[in-house]
Amino acid sequence: MPTKFLNRIILTFVVFISLSLLSFTTMNDYTDKYEKVRQRMVREQIVARGIKDQKVIQAMLNVKRHLFVPSNYERMAYEDRPLSIGEGQTISQPYIVALMTETLELTENMKVLEIGTGSGYQAAILAEIVQDVYTIEIIESLGLKAKNLLQSINYNNIQFKIGDGYKGWEEHAPFDAIIVTCAPTDIPQALEEQLKEGGKMIIPLGGSITQELVLFEKNKGKLIRKVVAPVRFVPMVRHDGKHY
Ligand code: SAH
Repeated sequence: MPTKFLNRIILTFVVFISLSLLSFTTMNDYTDKYEKVRQRMVREQIVARGIKDQKVIQAMLNVKRHLFVPSNYERMAYEDRPLSIGEGQTISQPYIVALMTETLELTENMKVLEIGTGSGYQAAILAEIVQDVYTIEIIESLGLKAKNLLQSINYNNIQFKIGDGYKGWEEHAPFDAIIVTCAPTDIPQALEEQLKEGGKMIIPLGGSITQELVLFEKNKGKLIRKVVAPVRFVPMVRHDGKHY
């Protein structure tokens, strides 16, 4: 074989191997760009503050939070704070997401309702843990964006609705658990009715300045109330923008 030809083959081979290695590393880099940062977030913000439910911890490790924030905030996605997601709304601080999820004591066979889809991050955390998630968002553009994202990353156990979550989602009630991520002043009657006997609902209650995160458990048809923490969520609003 002439050396020139042999050199060519070797060169082609070297180029092929380098290109494959390059694409492998960039792919890896893309899918797991923030893996270490995410593990650190879970260690320092979630576990260190007392979250113990392994299902919640694992879900927080699995869900790539940076996909749920606007691209200009991507590098801040794992910081200990809420972030703006547009339309005057926010994605909650990671610890609050973990805390709210843990208080519900979720198990795999449950059906959970979320009010306030927002970025879809909380819905993804729920969908990692339970078999059926129903989520309602009043701002169409946010709801559709979250739906597209969550479907593109293969969450097939989330149902989406654009509408007023104050009324709940009658057709799919009762729910084993309800999580509300916007704050009304009082408990929405429909949500109380749509909660299963023995079920839990976590909800921020109050005005725009002071709110309390409250956990309710339905016991013989009545809600038992337990205050969890002071919080600050965006208000739950009606279609006309008025605060509930
Ligand atoms: N769970 C979200 C946080 C969303 S912030 C996340 O993980 O990103 C609260 C959301 O509640 C906002 O998107 C807001 O538009 C929505 N919201 C406010 N009032 C609502 C209502 N009556 N029904 C449904 N969603 C409502």
